Amino acid sequence: MAQPSAAEERWLEAARDFARRALPACEGPGGPEPPPLEAVLRCLRSAGGGDLPLGYSFISISDLQHQQCMPCCSHLTWSTNEFKEWAHQGQGSLPMQSPLPRTYLILVGYLTDGRQEHDAKLVDGCLYVKDNTGIIPCELLHFELEWLESLFLFPSWSYIPQTDRSAVGYVEILADPVPVNLPKEVCDNIPVTYLASAEPLLTSRIACKKRSKLTVAGELVRLGPLLCIHHKTFFFLFLKCLTSAVWVPVLVQKPNQLAWHHILQLGHRYTITSLSMTSLKKSGQRMFVTSVSSCLLPYCAEQVREQPPDSDLQGESTQSSSLETAEQLSGSLEVGVEEERPRSTKESKIISYVGTVTKILNGQAGLFLLDNKVCLCLAYHQLNFARGLRPGACVELIDVHLLQKPLVSFPFIVLGACLSSTVVLKSFSRLSTPYQPPASSRNLYLQLLFRYNLGMPLYLWLVSLLETFEERFSCFFGRHRLLRSSTHRNPGAAEKFLVPLLQAVVPDRVEARDIYNEILEKIHHCPLQKYLSLNPPCQAPSLSVVCCVAEEKSWEGFSPSQLLSPLEAQHMGTQELNRRLAWSYCTLSAESFQPRLILLGVLRVSSRSSSLQLQDKSSALPCVITHKDGSPFARTALIGSLLQVENYQLVVERFLQTDFPSWEHLANLEHVRGKKNSVYVQFCFEDVQVLHAAEGQIQKGLRSGNSSSLRRKADGSLTSEPETPKAKMLKLEDPKPDTHQDENCQGGQSSAERASCVSRLFVVTQKEGLMLRNYQLRREEDGEGWELQSSFQSTVLWLGRPQLWSHPRETGNLPELEETGCDGEEDLTRQEVLLLFMGKSLRWFPFLHLDGLYRFIVPCCSDLEVFDKLCFPPVPAKSLSRSSCPLCLPVQDTWHLQHETWVSCLTERQLAARSVLTGMDQRISSIPEILHNSFTGSLVSFSGEIVERTLCASLKNEKPFVTVGLRKQKGSLLAADHSLKLSVSAAPDSGVVMDIYIAATYLQHLWGLLPGAKILFQNLERKISRFHNVYCTYIASSCVSIISLPALHLPFPSSPAGEASSPSLVFLSSLQPHLQNLPQARILCHLSCVRTLSLQWVCSLCSSIFKEGRCTQHSPPCPSHTGVRQASAWVLVEDGTGEALVLCKNQHVGAMLGLSLLEWEALQNCVQSRGRVSIQHGEATGTGCVEEPEDLIACYLRNLCRSPLICRPILLDFSLSRKPSKIPQPAPLQLRNFRCGEVEFVSQVGPRPSLLCLNVEEVEQGTLSYLNSERIRRTSSHCQVVATA
Ligand SMILES: [Zn+2]
Ligand SMILES: [Zn+2]
Repeated sequence: MAQPSAAEERWLEAARDFARRALPACEGPGGPEPPPLEAVLRCLRSAGGGDLPLGYSFISISDLQHQQCMPCCSHLTWSTNEFKEWAHQGQGSLPMQSPLPRTYLILVGYLTDGRQEHDAKLVDGCLYVKDNTGIIPCELLHFELEWLESLFLFPSWSYIPQTDRSAVGYVEILADPVPVNLPKEVCDNIPVTYLASAEPLLTSRIACKKRSKLTVAGELVRLGPLLCIHHKTFFFLFLKCLTSAVWVPVLVQKPNQLAWHHILQLGHRYTITSLSMTSLKKSGQRMFVTSVSSCLLPYCAEQVREQPPDSDLQGESTQSSSLETAEQLSGSLEVGVEEERPRSTKESKIISYVGTVTKILNGQAGLFLLDNKVCLCLAYHQLNFARGLRPGACVELIDVHLLQKPLVSFPFIVLGACLSSTVVLKSFSRLSTPYQPPASSRNLYLQLLFRYNLGMPLYLWLVSLLETFEERFSCFFGRHRLLRSSTHRNPGAAEKFLVPLLQAVVPDRVEARDIYNEILEKIHHCPLQKYLSLNPPCQAPSLSVVCCVAEEKSWEGFSPSQLLSPLEAQHMGTQELNRRLAWSYCTLSAESFQPRLILLGVLRVSSRSSSLQLQDKSSALPCVITHKDGSPFARTALIGSLLQVENYQLVVERFLQTDFPSWEHLANLEHVRGKKNSVYVQFCFEDVQVLHAAEGQIQKGLRSGNSSSLRRKADGSLTSEPETPKAKMLKLEDPKPDTHQDENCQGGQSSAERASCVSRLFVVTQKEGLMLRNYQLRREEDGEGWELQSSFQSTVLWLGRPQLWSHPRETGNLPELEETGCDGEEDLTRQEVLLLFMGKSLRWFPFLHLDGLYRFIVPCCSDLEVFDKLCFPPVPAKSLSRSSCPLCLPVQDTWHLQHETWVSCLTERQLAARSVLTGMDQRISSIPEILHNSFTGSLVSFSGEIVERTLCASLKNEKPFVTVGLRKQKGSLLAADHSLKLSVSAAPDSGVVMDIYIAATYLQHLWGLLPGAKILFQNLERKISRFHNVYCTYIASSCVSIISLPALHLPFPSSPAGEASSPSLVFLSSLQPHLQNLPQARILCHLSCVRTLSLQWVCSLCSSIFKEGRCTQHSPPCPSHTGVRQASAWVLVEDGTGEALVLCKNQHVGAMLGLSLLEWEALQNCVQSRGRVSIQHGEATGTGCVEEPEDLIACYLRNLCRSPLICRPILLDFSLSRKPSKIPQPAPLQLRNFRCGEVEFVSQVGPRPSLLCLNVEEVEQGTLSYLNSERIRRTSSHCQVVATA
């Protein structure tokens, strides 16, 4: 041998170093011998054809585990081309995956089953490679028992590192290991307890009597999985009689025999010695069980004499007949597409299959995808480690259940391995794919599977729910806390969510799975045999999916014409038409989705939008929460909690940008220029289930220790001496943010002081709406320019003095209310303060409500005067004189708001102490009160139910000053020149309606203004219109809160409500005193004459007369091609108690003239060429049209109006178009004669009210006489009846 080169020297030095470190010294005859390095080198030389692999280096197990963090492989003797070829072949089924990267490492170590380790628990049926530095699990495709505890060189292997803490990495042994030592040494390990005599094989009778050890030989027909139950590992194997179909089970349970599992191969013949008989306690099934001295030997015909087994033990091979091949599976795949009978119980077929793992669907749940088309489910089988089951690996499945479409929403056919199935790894993956081991302990998937003994359909559904759940919320709470199982004291959120769902679908008495039966029973019985294709009973998708689906649903089958009644729409000009389409909504409930949709989310509050939100990883969904008793939602403690809601209203507000010229174009969707939505959800707090309660906000705040509100002296001492107000103010107005506050808080202070916080109790006496105000956040004061700040303010009354808490606590009682009972009255007036919320403190907007008792908590603070630091609101100096601004207390970002209780909930004792609270409550009026003429006061608060909401043109004089800076306002989906008109009724049936106008700019923060919702409006401005109608407008100080949500059953939520009930029948004479607030009423009256009548076509754009297809507007020329027909008439009616002028519009004109719809249509069409036709009562023929001869249509209309046919009794629905107070005070009553049908009346009449026609109905003769007799009976006090002949 030549002298080693320098490189070889270095390599040998490294090898010696490795051997010293990693290889144990051998026990030689003369004491310990040096590590067997020479033998290793000899091995390496022979493997490398005589050369040492100088390009490779030794690696110890410990280095492998700690230094190698990516999957890798090493092939000692391969050329580059060989490796490339090997890697390329491995990519066959997954061309996108990269192959394992090659390393040049030499692995040498002992193969062991762990029996000699200190930790006996290691004997779990797995094999390991170990050296002096460590031990690592390994997987082999081929194994011999005599390899155990021998030193090997591994020429070809892959290392798969651990992916997370739950799993250790392992080695895949790709080629048989080369023994380092000569085989003679290994021979000693082979057990030699040989069959001495030709002992009878299966003689159970003798066995039972004598308890003698038996030897059994047979063909291995089934190999059960390694099972670990109650910390005991075992497996079953089944030997078939060599001459018949009879087979017997053998239980292998001794730790040193578990390694047998790795060498047993189906179809091979084995002999097992020293077996004894046992039977199961429960079922009495009998089987062989190994003893400590049992040996597994290859079958050797000469050494055994066969004896037929006892009938007790024999089992018919029931499966063998139903074995199918992979080809049959592909046939089944096709069948599966055709037959869709979801509701019938199906029987799963038992098949065998060989396939390649192409994806790990869910390692925890034991779901793998094979060949991109079949799902392998190992959850019912054994999930010990699933080592080797990486994408790219090939597996053979024997006797697995084939289930087609167990879950409707699950895309794959499922192969379910049960305990009588065998799963054999055929080849390792050559791809660099990770290993995702199932956590056997704390695996919620498997725990729930076994607890409820779920079948495959329910299990797959459970997996899909849990997967999504984990994906959505583990970023908030951490995986561990979410998936914590109830075997620990406190079940995690996932279990709280899933268990009720499972209990609802699983039969009451769940039969526990009997695994022994499943393995041993002659007739196979397992959870996978029968299944019912399952439609998922419910879903809980991510919020982004919820929003998408809701938006889709809201536009599904939508057409603009749904939003309008055609009778109205045909008379609308372009502007009005498109405005009426601009805003609509659609409400969805859990049942609107298929399957039922459960909402889950973490309750958050956004300071940007000042709205409550449900949040998950994907998105946030604004929400409106109410209480069933109508009290506002104020539970600050719920922030950060994970909520589940099943009873909710998902509202999609639809915003449509359209340019329909007229109603005739509504079907042409080209005129829809833009669609937008906003989605939010409303629900009652009572319908909420808290899956995971938030930890206290204050504690959290304290831990993070951030506070910008600290007002301490620089030396950190508390300011106990009184400060002048001026000094305080200067401090507050210090433009520099407190940069050293955190040091104040965390460093330099004692821990007790650090944890202390100051709190103060207050009651809200007034809250104003959220809007842009010309305030500035202080920190931006030195910046250039100013912009409007979203803000709100609230007037509160301090209760008691500030409290210093050494540590945060929950206060059940309110000590402030009791301790300061004797403070005296004058003290209290001083304690009223205006709170200003801006920036982050805007998040308290949804929680702060009138009459609520709250506490501010300032963490990391011990300054009791922190709440006394009033200042001017941060108005730009030039814009307003400060003297006009009240002092206010800006609420700092870090202050916490904690809701305590409501004024109405205080105990008598607390109330007595605070008698001042009574009387300060804001007056809530009723709608009739506000509508009444005698009402005084301009700011009003009231509650009512929204009857109708319509978009209308902005009131010209209602432009609030904020609109100036509104262009860049985000999220506003309505044009700024729109305003919302809400018709609000006092009670569902009252018919008394108040109109409220809200400018579009305010709408951004107002959720839930839907028909049917009951709303508390606060501080609206009461106004009186030109026509003396009372209405309200929403102004800067206004505020709304939702008392109750609309009922869900409205079939067409966007159609105006209140149409169902017909108005009450009244007399004209009674209009004045009683009915000024009635929205509408009905009279039976006689049409006396038509005063004026006008039919016209107007331009849909500019409302000029539209004639012969063109607009008559010339300067500037109008481009419109669309005319809209319009009609109006004033008619005189009388009902015997009085007369009234009625304004009829559009279709009501036709009805008033007694024309059928067709006649009316034809008449209007005749006007088209003329542009306009109008007549007046008393006009002579031809007058008014000097130039032209009398128009035919005008002539016809005049004759129609004069005809006695027109003067007939009608039923008229109307509203008072002008309130009576507008009419000059009553002229003296006159006596007049009236006719009504056959009856003539003499009556006193007052002035004529003017009415707006809402509907005209013809009266049939029978009805007329009935109504007449009714009214004669009822009106005897009103008028005298003169009988006519
Ligand atoms: Zn089965
Ligand atoms: Zn025009």
